[in-house]
Amino acid sequence: MTHYSNTDNPVDFPKSEKRKQIEAGANIHAGDGYEIGTKEKYEAFVEKRMESEAREHIGYIEREEGYYKLYAPPKGSIVTHAFILCKYCNGSIYHCMGPKYDAVCFTCYDKEPELR
Ligand SMILES: [Zn+2]
Repeated sequence: MTHYSNTDNPVDFPKSEKRKQIEAGANIHAGDGYEIGTKEKYEAFVEKRMESEAREHIGYIEREEGYYKLYAPPKGSIVTHAFILCKYCNGSIYHCMGPKYDAVCFTCYDKEPELR
């Protein structure tokens, strides 16, 4: 894997704030190479990315290891025209980017698991 760090640049161009944030996210995500990603690292990565995109938090994705925050797509993204529905109540979470079969809405996320 090729990794470009700031010190690899022959000329040190000033970087935009957005680019710095994206690189900060990429550095967290890449780590030392091919290490298996952890939930914590993933969330740190997403958080850095979010700072550069200011995307809307729309719900959660449920996985064996826990919940991941689900965000609206960045402006200008190409998305599917399928709704994202909640796996528990079938309510609409978002009007595009679906289907996602493990999405959970805020209401169900806040409920006790046995009450969903
Ligand atoms: Zn729901």
